[in-house]
Amino acid sequence: MEKTIAAVATGNAAGGIGVIRISGEKAIEIADKVFSAADGSFLSELKGYRAKFGSVAAGGKTLDNAVALVFRAPKSYTGEDVCELSVHGGVFIVEKTLEAVFAAGAAPAGAGEFTKRAFLNGKMDLTQAESVADLISAEGEAAAQASFHALQGSLSNKINSILEILTDCSANMAAWVDYPDEEIPDLADDELEKTLTNAAKALKELVENYENGIAVVQGIDTVIAGRPNAGKSTLMNLLAGRDKSIVTDIEGTTRDIVEESVRLGGLVLHLSDTAGLRKSKDEVETIGIDRAYNKIEQASLILPVFDSSRKLNKEDMNLIERCRDKKAVAIINKTDLSTKADVEFIQSSFAHCVFISAKSTADTSGIEKEIKSLFAADTFDAAAPILANQRQKQCCVRAMDFIFDAVSSLIMGVTRDAVNVLVDSAIDELLSLTGQKANIEVVNNIFSKFCVGK
Ligand code: GDP
Repeated sequence: MEKTIAAVATGNAAGGIGVIRISGEKAIEIADKVFSAADGSFLSELKGYRAKFGSVAAGGKTLDNAVALVFRAPKSYTGEDVCELSVHGGVFIVEKTLEAVFAAGAAPAGAGEFTKRAFLNGKMDLTQAESVADLISAEGEAAAQASFHALQGSLSNKINSILEILTDCSANMAAWVDYPDEEIPDLADDELEKTLTNAAKALKELVENYENGIAVVQGIDTVIAGRPNAGKSTLMNLLAGRDKSIVTDIEGTTRDIVEESVRLGGLVLHLSDTAGLRKSKDEVETIGIDRAYNKIEQASLILPVFDSSRKLNKEDMNLIERCRDKKAVAIINKTDLSTKADVEFIQSSFAHCVFISAKSTADTSGIEKEIKSLFAADTFDAAAPILANQRQKQCCVRAMDFIFDAVSSLIMGVTRDAVNVLVDSAIDELLSLTGQKANIEVVNNIFSKFCVGK
């Protein structure tokens, strides 16, 4: 028998209400030991989806008023019997109630254990379970919407429809191989080739949209870079809406990376303001500059800042070179001063440029527009299936490669049983994506990243 588990489902901070969730065969029996209904009835007499008002007690002492919600298996989040006790959301009260629940026989829930049980009990597949964590950590509207649609099954449905097609192809080829003398209506080679190619293309589309999807779901790792005094910190503060970085005329002021997550339209940018790029004899500053170059390499988006009131120098040219083939929006700053920089050259080097006076404006709409265009965020359809993490992407890539190999083999005239091995491998990859055939280490790893109580 699985242990009955309990944890605080609401955050570890004071709030209006705190919820203690109990799940497992003994959930309601345990709740009855802690909770007393005002009308003297017992939760064990209650049907699912019912609530009772009463109080919770620990060691014979009443702690607080409470509401108990009862869910009966399998109609609950975890698929097991579940009882949720809502008390006033003071950290002490919530902790004390949880202790009382433990004393009554529940075991502490591990990270993500409620959702893991929901997955193991078939209430949701792995992609949906992962979307629960994404939904909780969503910081912007687009992210929340995309995660919500994934929870509703947008990705699972897409993958399952591809699985259905592959399974049909595989069954047909297997029957054809196993019973060559029977009158099995086999798929013609070209029809099979077309069906498999379409399946691979559907996966390819998912993989190609990954970068943009992940940018929306997880936020865009963005680096602000440029020579000293270009206005990087001023831009950081403009985007953050507050003074996060120190702004001075003194070169070398920002030495280490200053980080802040900001919301821009429906997107979230994880901003890093970096040390000004120049040759420096100062050891600490040089380390900062190295870090800035590393950030430029790794970031999903670069905002190179250019001071339009000064001629472009070696560092500017170097930065332009480093931005080549990367996602970047050039910020041409200090437009309130007379122009000395070769702005045409900057414009010809970047597909996306914004002219701004970061010091004297509060308007970030130009930057927002260019970033959205770069990540196709305006046409982003949150309801469409998207891959939300590397694990999902890798399963898709491997499945796609197996199918393309199967198509090539078919064209080369390889026997169908050999082609079918490749199709079956693709099926296995997609089954591990949805969790229908995932190994336990993968599953444990996914849920270990959840918070306790989810
Ligand atoms: P950083 O070294 O690139 O981070 O540059 P800062 O943001 O610290 O700015 C350097 C100096 O340029 C400060 O004195 C800012 O007030 C000034 N500055 C920043 N943006 C503008 C702007 O748009 N116009 C003008 N005139 N000055 C600016």
